[in-house]
Amino acid sequence: MRNVQQEEINILHTPISALHTDTVFSFSLIKNDPSTAGRLGKILTSHGEISTPVFMPVGTQATVKTMSPQDLTELGAEIILSNTYHLFLRPGHELIREFGGLHGFMNWQRPILTDSGGFQVFSLADLRKITDEGVTFQSHLDGGAKHVITPEAAIGIQEALGADIIMAFDECIPYPATRDYAQEALDRTLQWAERCRAAKQDRGQALFGIVQGGMYPELRKRSAEALVATGFDGYAIGGLSVGETKPLMYEMVEATVPSLPEDQPRYLMGVGTPEDLVECVDRGIDMFDCVMPTRNARNGTFFTSFGRVVIRNARYERDPGPIDPECGCSTCRNFSRAYLRHLFNAGEVLALRLGTVHNLYFYLNLMREVRRNIELGTFGEFKKAFLAKRETLID
Ligand SMILES: [Zn+2]
Repeated sequence: MRNVQQEEINILHTPISALHTDTVFSFSLIKNDPSTAGRLGKILTSHGEISTPVFMPVGTQATVKTMSPQDLTELGAEIILSNTYHLFLRPGHELIREFGGLHGFMNWQRPILTDSGGFQVFSLADLRKITDEGVTFQSHLDGGAKHVITPEAAIGIQEALGADIIMAFDECIPYPATRDYAQEALDRTLQWAERCRAAKQDRGQALFGIVQGGMYPELRKRSAEALVATGFDGYAIGGLSVGETKPLMYEMVEATVPSLPEDQPRYLMGVGTPEDLVECVDRGIDMFDCVMPTRNARNGTFFTSFGRVVIRNARYERDPGPIDPECGCSTCRNFSRAYLRHLFNAGEVLALRLGTVHNLYFYLNLMREVRRNIELGTFGEFKKAFLAKRETLID
């Protein structure tokens, strides 16, 4: 029964340009929030369903640091992200292909999204040379060996990695950037997006285009419209959270979303804080990823319903309470702040794992609450209460 309904949804929500493929990817819009642009949806992939709005934990090197796939399943992660640039350099995409792609290699059987490598090529690699053809760079790893990534290569690598959702190769510009440079990079990104679409052969994977355009609203709009005209399975907003102010980031999201289709997923790349997630759900975003919860956890900085807890602070030396009394994660149910502080101070590896469990639970639970409130039609009130409470920082 469900299959029949799902097939109908597939047909209804599959972009016309993709109707001739046999991809199982689909997005169905379930509900619009009455007082904001927030929306509840469902993405279907060949590795399962994803409820949106969703947060994707980052597993850069085919692992969400310190977490096993079982841990991630228990935390309720429905999709994870992995980084093409890192896996291309080590251990190499052909090796991963031999193991059945990322799903087989890391034994994670739920959906995976890979980025195109663009962001890392522009942020980590040395001696980049950008031409219309692609990017030549020296890696940050293998003794500075020279590599070339073209749009076609970025797709080929992602096909070997076998993620459910793959991304077009884009040029990521620094902030601030002049309008001329932002436009030049945007034009190149649009050409590359078309080449990515033409190069893609694996019909089991969905391909998302990436909106660029720096901090120029009219360029963002143009980028979005051109990508939609080409036709992708979903649309990402890239090049944000690169040092601009929050109001400017939100303005760029607002400049982009109206040009994106209602019936396809919208993904804000590399964002952000819990506040950013709530603010951008409010503006119509469906998907997020960020290293913040996992990276901060390993630094001993925890997210809570009332703000940040820096566990190394002396005030927690004899504190018998959990990181967050309102949190239901296994770390908060079993361990005191005093014990966690001790583990961090002693440099014990368990500290990193317990901290990651808490921070990922906080993010994933936040998105569960966000979805529940959109379903109830109360997201606007939830947002107000959440933001007010989070301002009571205690560190
Ligand atoms: Zn917790």
